Amino acid sequence: MSLDSINTVAVLGAGTMGNGIAHVFARAGYSVILRDVDQSFLERALGTIGKNLDREIKKGKLPESEKPAVLSRIKTVIAMSAIAAADFAIEAVPEKLEIKRAVLSEADKILRPEVILASNTSSISMTTLAALTSRPDRFVGMHFMNPVPVMALVEVIRALQTSDTAFTLTMELTKKLGKTGVAVNDAPGFVSNRVLMPLINEAAYCVMEGVATPEAVDSVMRLGMNHPMGPLELADFIGLDVCVDILHVLEEGLGDPKYRACPLLKKYVAAGWLGRKSSRGFYTYS
Ligand code: NAD
Repeated sequence: MSLDSINTVAVLGAGTMGNGIAHVFARAGYSVILRDVDQSFLERALGTIGKNLDREIKKGKLPESEKPAVLSRIKTVIAMSAIAAADFAIEAVPEKLEIKRAVLSEADKILRPEVILASNTSSISMTTLAALTSRPDRFVGMHFMNPVPVMALVEVIRALQTSDTAFTLTMELTKKLGKTGVAVNDAPGFVSNRVLMPLINEAAYCVMEGVATPEAVDSVMRLGMNHPMGPLELADFIGLDVCVDILHVLEEGLGDPKYRACPLLKKYVAAGWLGRKSSRGFYTYS
């Protein structure tokens, strides 16, 4: 398989990440088969993609005349059999091993043998996922950042079994999307979450111990370290439940108690204060 032979890409899961991934592939000229389990999720995804394209038009990043062409390249489907036409596939279904297992094994049976299958997982071992398929050497991690159309980075993660050919092709494909691929080996939290989550956790400890308010902690990091967002604003954006889950993965996977989730984070999650998505986390949102 070469870069030029990739024309059609299957995106499995049309949620937060899946719609963004479909957006950037379609924007780069690829035909996209976007698959989810319910028509309403697919319609919501198309609505989000439309709004995000409008934002790009407003910012002068996309000519208005191109919007219909981008949207016309995205075909939404429910039947998994429709992904048979794909030359590359990426899954962005929920972060539950059982769901990933079911989706990957179904997709693996339908995709042509030479097709690379990628995962956007944030925390599950790529090596474990690769081993669930009949194509472990053609399995790779493609970890996009949220919001996908905006963020430049893709961590391109090698499972233990990933071949050099599959890895290199995925790096090239990432570049064609206008993103920067960074090579990372498979390890808990990869690089992004392994470095980010301890920062968020420590910021939560500062609040819990009364060292400073959330606003003060975020101001220190924004103004003093030039971070565009403070760690607690970012935690609210990611979802505090997601942060706690990733910290568990780091603690278990690396066997080091330094990754133990801050009790305040866990308390907020128990209260249902999950950040932006529940209108309350470290901050309140209207
Ligand atoms: P999400 O819950 O927003 O979307 C998942 C979608 O998958 C839903 O629309 C759901 O209906 C669909 N789905 C469920 N079962 C399916 C199936 N069998 N076939 C096809 N679709 C199915 O989740 P998300 O936030 O987009 O996360 C998806 C993946 O991306 C996860 O692995 C997550 O760890 C990873 N990720 C998330 C973020 C983030 O900030 N949200 C960032 C990087 C990576």
